[in-house]
Amino acid sequence: LDAIDRAHLIHPVSPWRVHEQRGPTVLSSGRGAWLTDGNGHELLDAFAGLWCVNVGYGQESVVQAATEQMRKLPYATGYFHFSSEPAIRLAEKLVQITPASLTRVYLTLGGSEAVDAAVRFIVQYYNATGRPSKKQFISLERGYHGSSSTGAGLTALPAFHRGFDLPLPTQHYIASPYAYRHADGADPQALIASSVAALRAKVAELGADNVAAFFCEPIQGSGGVIVPPKGWLKAMREAARELDILFVVDEVITGFGRTGPMFACEAEGVEPDLMTMAKGLTAGYVPMGATMMSEKVYAGIADGAPEGASVGHGATYSAHPVGAAVALEVLRLYEEGGILANGQRGAAHFAAGLDALLAHPLVGDSRHRGLLGALELVSDKASKRRFDAALGLSDRIFAAGYRNGLVFRSFGDHILGFAPALTFTEDEFAQMFARLKKTLDEVLA
Ligand code: PMP
Repeated sequence: LDAIDRAHLIHPVSPWRVHEQRGPTVLSSGRGAWLTDGNGHELLDAFAGLWCVNVGYGQESVVQAATEQMRKLPYATGYFHFSSEPAIRLAEKLVQITPASLTRVYLTLGGSEAVDAAVRFIVQYYNATGRPSKKQFISLERGYHGSSSTGAGLTALPAFHRGFDLPLPTQHYIASPYAYRHADGADPQALIASSVAALRAKVAELGADNVAAFFCEPIQGSGGVIVPPKGWLKAMREAARELDILFVVDEVITGFGRTGPMFACEAEGVEPDLMTMAKGLTAGYVPMGATMMSEKVYAGIADGAPEGASVGHGATYSAHPVGAAVALEVLRLYEEGGILANGQRGAAHFAAGLDALLAHPLVGDSRHRGLLGALELVSDKASKRRFDAALGLSDRIFAAGYRNGLVFRSFGDHILGFAPALTFTEDEFAQMFARLKKTLDEVLA
């Protein structure tokens, strides 16, 4: 299989050197937090796939929900005002569990499509409400918002721009609230004030009449798990309101219990104008995402009578009935199945395990909220000096972790990311941190 994989299957963004260091991996099965590869090697998955398998592998009731829906009605287009029961029930459910400002749901195939849809809805909204000049978008450095041209442009990570004319002329960035490496990082209030000032300054520079929206993740994921201080999201939300721009929260990673509550917005008391989500919505079992919006935004773009939910955007697999049936069952597992509560209980073990590794000679920073966390490796703790990129240290750690039966993520700049399933037990946390410590010690030796 490995030879055919190398010959024909294109893999996203991962360098082959990772594969060389670790050896080929064809994953063959999963149960709970555990994966088995083709050689029978058992792995503890501390990254929930790609921060998505929040309910763990092998949930039989999810398989059943998908199978039943496939048998009954595998496909229904949302075009021509057709609909399916799971899609309708899911929309109703999402409105119930998200902040009260969000009342309308557009179902997509994943996060990138949800972000694209949000941008298209926003532009349509301003066009329809007589302010067509509002077309500029502001996002955060180190933000990640997807792999389409629009999403990659909102993403402020150079690897996603290289070779393309990105960001688009309508896309602009302000500094990330990266406490560990920000001049105001030691003082949470100063850091918040600095982000608010940066947003105001950027809107002033572009002209308030030209700025459509500010996009952010409540905690930046792919940029290295950057956890802003409590109160940051709310302050940015208020600033956006004062500046008369829409506030879009990208909860693709942070949603569905990843940071504790169902959505990170909830803990911050934030009501966004739009929200994007994916990953934990179907927990990776089938692809699905969603773009949600307020009644105000929807009313601006709705085609015809308010009850005729229709917008100028769509795709073949929008509101896919099997995706929706799976999402409904996954949501039931978070709530009635107790998985959300289990994740909240696990957060203390997760935090304690990461923080204990601050004593390790390689670890400069430990940051986390809920079950989303990272360790940042430095060559000198006092100066926070990064390791030379040429060392490929985090790739070596990733490969060593795999040999020790642990899966997590290595970011290029020597940040290790962790996002265990919400089903992790105390014993699994103990195994995770024992394997991680062993891995760091081996790489140091
Ligand atoms: N937004 C955020 C915050 C994400 O983390 C991601 C995926 N990592 C996306 C959007 C894009 O989602 P997808 O990969 O499902 O297209």
